Amino acid sequence: MSHNAYITDERIAGGDDGPLADRTVAVKDNISTEGVRTTCGSAMLDEYVPPYDATVVDRLKSAGATITGKTNMDEFGMGTTTETSAFGPTENPAAPGHVPGGSSGGSAAAVASGDADLALGTDTGGSVRCPAAFCGVVGIKPTYGLVSRYGLIAYANSLEQIGPIAPSVEEAAELLEVIAGPDEHDATTRDAAEEGADTDYAAAADGDVEGMQIGIPTELVEGADEDVVETFWDAIDDLEAQGASSHEVDLPSVEHAVEAYYVIAMSEASSNLARFDGVRYGPSPDYEGNWNEEFAGVREAGFGEEVKRRVLLGTYALSAGYHDKYYKKAQDARAWVKQDFDEALAEADVLASPTMPVPPMEMGESLSDPLTMYLADANTTPVNLANLPAISVPAGETDDGLPVGMQFVGPAFGETEIIRAGSALA
Ligand code: GLN
Repeated sequence: MSHNAYITDERIAGGDDGPLADRTVAVKDNISTEGVRTTCGSAMLDEYVPPYDATVVDRLKSAGATITGKTNMDEFGMGTTTETSAFGPTENPAAPGHVPGGSSGGSAAAVASGDADLALGTDTGGSVRCPAAFCGVVGIKPTYGLVSRYGLIAYANSLEQIGPIAPSVEEAAELLEVIAGPDEHDATTRDAAEEGADTDYAAAADGDVEGMQIGIPTELVEGADEDVVETFWDAIDDLEAQGASSHEVDLPSVEHAVEAYYVIAMSEASSNLARFDGVRYGPSPDYEGNWNEEFAGVREAGFGEEVKRRVLLGTYALSAGYHDKYYKKAQDARAWVKQDFDEALAEADVLASPTMPVPPMEMGESLSDPLTMYLADANTTPVNLANLPAISVPAGETDDGLPVGMQFVGPAFGETEIIRAGSALA
């Protein structure tokens, strides 16, 4: 096991039948595995062993997959580099000395290093697509409601989905087929086929982009690093040479997406993380009579800095007197972002942009500057606000040999469109 990709490297042997019988899958450590420690990258859950499997894990087991272990991640999914993990950072196998992206950095590193054939990550604001882009592999963030979140330890419920990471688009699509579909344990799941969607995901990886209309939101290209922009346009040229056509589209609301995302994500996190109090979850304090002190002590010791920052800001944004000023405004912005995407996708099959505006940062570079780290999520967070599906595929490299990812966004339950577009590149 290399690159500190795993927090717990306990194997769960697979079966002889099923579509994944000969495959290994690494599972992000915020997805519950019965009898196998699940920490969310937090000291708070250092000794937590779930009594049940998440629905996606159940489906992996039924498909015959062998689970290689539980992968490293930013604490509770809060980060873009995997450096906020209480278990130390993961190194990027495709770019030594650089971060693997986050928060599913361990999952992407396990696939990029060949340690696992496939992996599961979770994407609240980019955490599947960012590490896929940084590690030179493929990641899919499904439409909200396509994949069950039952057994996923929540960070921000209204934004997140579990998604596949794989070396190729076709393999990512195969894994998506295994985990997708309605679940009686998660009332937000929907039956994509009943929504009129094509659910033959693997078959859609046919590379056929003849006649495909690609919308390019200039807002998501202009602010990116020069090297990234150059690689992006080369990839668009490649798609056009294969018969696709492209045109500019406007997404004026995305200017506010990062702010809206962080207000909503932190608000939901502050309420989700209230259960880590030393009574329901977390190490029990030696109770000496003052509940407030005991509770605060457990949280002081168990949470890292980034988690504390977000719980404080989220609590503030939801508090009486400030709710309308922050949370409600963020919800308005979210509605605007959704509407912008709907309009842009009325004139295009998919939208394309760089997945990340920057190449992978050097290890240690971004921890001291949370705002810069948040801004790196400019291209991924709008998609979660709009509940849409998106894929990140390798688009090429910078002059320094650092991986650059291309993001395709599709209409709700239009997974086959983004898979088709991605498969023409990788
Ligand atoms: N970087 C974003 C955040 O820190 C996204 C994380 C995620 O998708 N889990 O919230």
